Amino acid sequence: MFKLLSTANPKIQKGTKMGYLSFILHLAPADLSGKEVCPKRTAGCTSACLNTAGRGGMFKKGENTNMIQKARIRKTNYFFEDRDSFMKDLYQDINKAIKFAAKAGLTPVIRLNGTSDLSWEKYTVGTTDMNLFQLFPTVQFYDYTKVLGRKVADIKNYHLTFSKADGNDADVARAIAQGYNIAAVFDEMPETYMGLPVINADETDLRFLDPKGCIAGLKAKGRAKKDYSGFVIRIKEVA
Ligand code: SF4
Repeated sequence: MFKLLSTANPKIQKGTKMGYLSFILHLAPADLSGKEVCPKRTAGCTSACLNTAGRGGMFKKGENTNMIQKARIRKTNYFFEDRDSFMKDLYQDINKAIKFAAKAGLTPVIRLNGTSDLSWEKYTVGTTDMNLFQLFPTVQFYDYTKVLGRKVADIKNYHLTFSKADGNDADVARAIAQGYNIAAVFDEMPETYMGLPVINADETDLRFLDPKGCIAGLKAKGRAKKDYSGFVIRIKEVA
């Protein structure tokens, strides 16, 4: 039914208890497709990427790809090779998502960077000269990003949480100063980090509901469990 969006991520589904249904776009992260979709990625986040969490990281013996990874690469190629059609399909998918959620009695919310970090505010749809946030002003969009300085301050229906990774501490400090909440990946969830309260961001994916001035704590998943690059913050070893 949906060409580009999905609702399959288990954490996304946790939001339904709170009345929201998240629709998420998963592209092939980093430059897996041959094209870069994560301009500020770090060595640590690239190798520990959530792309490998859940079913996306399950490979048959002797294989290093699967249906999910192939679909993500196909979508990413589509984005780069036929942007106009891609954006129109995405627009149609969001329309479908709105109807789908309404039937389920839920509020649709949209995350476009499930496994990418693109600046969606730059991409318009068809001949409208409007981006998706402008075309769906009553729909809440949200994402995580490592790109500071995105021109989103005036977009009221787009919530961004800044992502900490190995080696982007200076940007994290700037992001906090600019009022962003920070997402950080831990081996074990602390109560506070950098002097800010840590909330359990694994409970739902609904970051736009988080209180201001907090750390959205995520537990290491997939390959991240074995990360020692500095991307995963090791609390156990420090304690
Ligand atoms: S920026 Fe995000 S999506 Fe991209 S490689 Fe890093 S963790 Fe994965």
